[in-house]
Amino acid sequence: MAGTIRRLEETVVNRIAAGEVIVRPANAVKEMLENCLDAKSSSIQVVVKSGGLKLLQIQDNGTGIRRDDMDIVCERFTTSKLQKFEDLTSIATYGFRGEALASISHVAHVTIVTRTADSKCAYKASYSDGKPLATPKPCAGNQGTQITVEDLFYNVPSRRKAMRSPGEEHAKVAEVMSRYAIHNAGVGFTLKKQGESMAELRTSPTSSTIDNIRTVYGPAVARELIEVKCDDSRLAFSMKGYISNANYSTKKFIFLLFINHRLVDSTALRKALEAVYSAYLPKNMHPFVYMSVEIMPSHVDVNVHPTKHEVHFLHEDVIIEAIQKQVETSLLGCNSSRTFFTQALLPGAIVPVSEVTSSGTSSGTSTKTYAHQLVRTDHRDQKLEAFLKKPEDPIISSPSVSAKTSVAEVDSAIPSTSTTTDADATDVPMATEEHQKQRKRPREEGIEEESEEAIIGEDESRGEGNKSSQRRPITLTSVLTLHQEIKDNMHTGLREMVTQLKFVGCVDPTRALVQHQTKLYLVSTRRLSQELFYQLALFDFGNFGMLRLSEPAPIGELAMLALDSEESGWTEEDGSKEELSQYIVTFLQQKAPMLLDYFSLQIDSDGNLCTLPLLLDNYIPPLEGLPMFVLRLATEVDWDNEKECFQSFARECGLFYAIRSSLASTSENSKSWKWTVEHALFPAFRASLLPPKMFAEDRSVLQIANLPDLYKVFERC
Ligand code: ADP
Ligand code: MG
Repeated sequence: MAGTIRRLEETVVNRIAAGEVIVRPANAVKEMLENCLDAKSSSIQVVVKSGGLKLLQIQDNGTGIRRDDMDIVCERFTTSKLQKFEDLTSIATYGFRGEALASISHVAHVTIVTRTADSKCAYKASYSDGKPLATPKPCAGNQGTQITVEDLFYNVPSRRKAMRSPGEEHAKVAEVMSRYAIHNAGVGFTLKKQGESMAELRTSPTSSTIDNIRTVYGPAVARELIEVKCDDSRLAFSMKGYISNANYSTKKFIFLLFINHRLVDSTALRKALEAVYSAYLPKNMHPFVYMSVEIMPSHVDVNVHPTKHEVHFLHEDVIIEAIQKQVETSLLGCNSSRTFFTQALLPGAIVPVSEVTSSGTSSGTSTKTYAHQLVRTDHRDQKLEAFLKKPEDPIISSPSVSAKTSVAEVDSAIPSTSTTTDADATDVPMATEEHQKQRKRPREEGIEEESEEAIIGEDESRGEGNKSSQRRPITLTSVLTLHQEIKDNMHTGLREMVTQLKFVGCVDPTRALVQHQTKLYLVSTRRLSQELFYQLALFDFGNFGMLRLSEPAPIGELAMLALDSEESGWTEEDGSKEELSQYIVTFLQQKAPMLLDYFSLQIDSDGNLCTLPLLLDNYIPPLEGLPMFVLRLATEVDWDNEKECFQSFARECGLFYAIRSSLASTSENSKSWKWTVEHALFPAFRASLLPPKMFAEDRSVLQIANLPDLYKVFERC
């Protein structure tokens, strides 16, 4: 027997339809919250019992509902927000189809108490199946609306059974509320379980979006937020929000997406964001993203089912890509632990070591050191070398000074201000055996005395040098002024760093890596050594040892060599090279007594250069620079004024003595320069370099990493 087809009762139809719109308490809450916000409320209080299944009460302080509208407010398709179909495309309020309240009234007992600003009292009415049960009764009440929803799904057993636990429903309600609270900074939200005095969620109308994120999701995420923003008039959209940086991650993607102020979801955007973060976060970890997107209303597909959060909009792909790019840029731009590489390449992006200097005399060790800040404190610890060399290569060896230079010899061992250890000295013979070995006694009262003692061994020479190292006191005002200028121009932070630095390894002859506290620096060995030799030339003024050239070098030939080089900038207008070089010989010869006395630079009567000042033990200047040095002594040194003369002479020394990159080009030299940098130059930097202030700005010292930041990076691997 065929069943008879009967028309369903209207209330049943409405109930079924309502059950489609309101599937769980959280949907009802969302709809009602949006109504409160549409009514321009600044305070919204929600009370919940049994996850909202027994009771949902929402109180606001908005515009209220007019007495006359109370009869129809719960009927389907009644709304104060939309009149014509075309309005759908320009709607700016949340609700627009007058379906929510009606639906709720079909599946629950609804009571409304409301009062508008111009009404003398509030009115109360109860509803069932979309209709008021009686005419609204006047009662006491503040401006705004209170809607009470009781016994949700009391008449839809199937829906009631489908409900999971009240706890789960409550959690959903709380999630929806807290998301609206974050999106609506400026509106105070309170969520309470009925009968409990403490609010579960409370945001103040004066708190910021970040404050609200902190309230809901905790400080761990709130302190790692980056603000993101973009807009595009062509695509008619704008986006702003807060996203977590690479320091934060969580097991589940927290994605708060509002499009035109409606809490929605977009699978496409969700995936796009996950893709960006996958490069930054550990595997299977996810970010926090709160994003508010505004799209021209006519571009958003409004015809989605009320329970469906998923949205689609015009130009979806392009807009998502634009957002994706913005997020990527913001992530890169903000996380310092990931940007130091780019920073390091920027000119002058250095470290003023401010945290060290600010403490004045403190050694910088008084503050608590956490495990991740523990660093090497002994410069004899393992260095970069150990990772680069074959194990059989001794890391510290005795390099032989290249025979090609064939000029240098220790003449005297008056210790310079930079003290190297004895161990260092024994490791380095200063010259090869075939060289003539001559020694000069330390000068006394400026009187030159030469003797022909042979060096037996480097130890002894040093011993003797130490024994007789009586420094000649320098009282020249010009020199003392220059000393003071160096001291006045010293960068205290960098000085402290230089004294405490740990040598890590050479990058090449002119650059090295050093560590100070938890930071890794790239230092220009060339600039530092140039400054060191300048300072040594002034601080050891009149007290240098001598480096004797194995064969006296004719100044005329050196000058010719220099003039032949492009670097000299010689042009025909300067006169013939021969004449010029002859002039240089005579000129420097005139200065010979002074050069010898103050700078241990000896020129013989035949115009040969015989010695150079020994500025630093175990260090021979790169002799390829000798011709230019000689030329510049004649052309660049200001011989007319005492102070300027000494200063410019010392500058030239710095230029000539500073380590050069060409040292790396000859392989037999490679050990030698590395050894020299680590065991001669760096100990000297530590002992006596007073870094000038400009070193903090001119890329002489660049911070390239900070250990705690590196830990953050490695933690993610
Ligand atoms: P819609 O929001 O789509 O208009 P609803 O069913 O959600 O439909 O609400 C119906 C109408 O009831 C709204 O248009 C509004 O006029 C009124 N209303 C509902 N809640 C409130 C409230 N909290 N404050 C003021 N008016 C409200
Ligand atoms: Mg609504």
